[in-house]
Amino acid sequence: MKALVYNGPGQMALEDRAMPVVRDAGDAVVRIVKTTICGTDLHILKGDVPSCTPGRILGHEGVGEIDSVGAGVTSFKPGDRVLISCISACGRCDYCRRNIYSHCRTGGWTLGNEIDGTQAEFVRIPHADTSLYPVPSGADEDVLVLLSDILPTGFECGVLNGKVSPGSTVAIVGAGPVGLAALLTAQLYSPARLIMIDLDDNRLAIARQFGATDTINAADAGAAERVRALCDGMGVDTAIEAVGVPSTFLFCQDVVAPGGVIANVGVHGAKVDLHLERLWSRNIAITTRLVDTVSTPMLLKSVCTHRIDPARLITHRFKLDEIVAAYDTFGHAATTRALKVIIT
Ligand code: NAD
Ligand code: ZN
Repeated sequence: MKALVYNGPGQMALEDRAMPVVRDAGDAVVRIVKTTICGTDLHILKGDVPSCTPGRILGHEGVGEIDSVGAGVTSFKPGDRVLISCISACGRCDYCRRNIYSHCRTGGWTLGNEIDGTQAEFVRIPHADTSLYPVPSGADEDVLVLLSDILPTGFECGVLNGKVSPGSTVAIVGAGPVGLAALLTAQLYSPARLIMIDLDDNRLAIARQFGATDTINAADAGAAERVRALCDGMGVDTAIEAVGVPSTFLFCQDVVAPGGVIANVGVHGAKVDLHLERLWSRNIAITTRLVDTVSTPMLLKSVCTHRIDPARLITHRFKLDEIVAAYDTFGHAATTRALKVIIT
């Protein structure tokens, strides 16, 4: 089968690889119908993710059709259409029982990182019963791919951790796919203000189309003051960090109101400064988290009933044969204006 293989920092290639097979009773082998590229794939390609070793098939998002299942799989059979979670977790260990699938004790594997992933014709999914979801009939499979990772990430790490609630005020720093996913899913809770902050005016324009009440360019003088001014001078109840650089974490500390929450979503390669005294004296909570995809069934219903419309995140479409070009398009988003690229 064809598969996109990570061959060390800066190197990847579409190669011929052996078909995956069922190894454990809980496994399913899935024929990939749709996959996509995530910012995390770019981090891996740079060599920033040591758990991903050369030879690994990339990709952790996908929709497909069950090819074969192990004897222990009870929820799926060959021919079933499935949405794939980016994390493969047992659902039964003490961590999974607390909804922390990302730290499953019996293999909270991230596809395309610790085990072979979805940018291929077929993928092996361990713990298939708890790591796959049935595709509802009539659902748009391009859109469902966004539920493998990006939408639950914005929702779980940003909106749920940030305790977004009706009438509250929210700032989201970073209007990339993750920040926009937080923007879309925050609207499920009817906050009064959704302020999007980015350096890229084009992405800010997209954020307005996606429901931001206000947008502010982070490079503008007094950007933090403008955020506070929009909220009675106090700041926001929830500041969601969706970039992953020290300056935006500092920005969140500047715009959060007393009693508020900073929900960190970004992956920070570097240390960040905490003004702990200032945070303590203003009752600020800080949360941070890996995505667990435990919200996927709920988000799936919200998408299928058109309560949220992530289709607008899709900007480009490619075939698997063109995946290297798709990485180029996705990796140069400032010029190509790519958000999510769908690979068929
Ligand atoms: P992205 O690079 O596509 O988007 C980041 C956005 O931030 C861009 O629009 C960019 O213009 C903007 N930006 C950059 N510097 C800025 C600044 N100083 N001020 C304001 N805006 C700035 O990234 P993405 O794919 O949307 O991912 C966002 C973050 O989420 C990344 O750090 C990614 O690694 C992380 N992530 C976390 C998880 C998790 O489990 N917590 C999962 C997936 C991704
Ligand atoms: Zn587990």
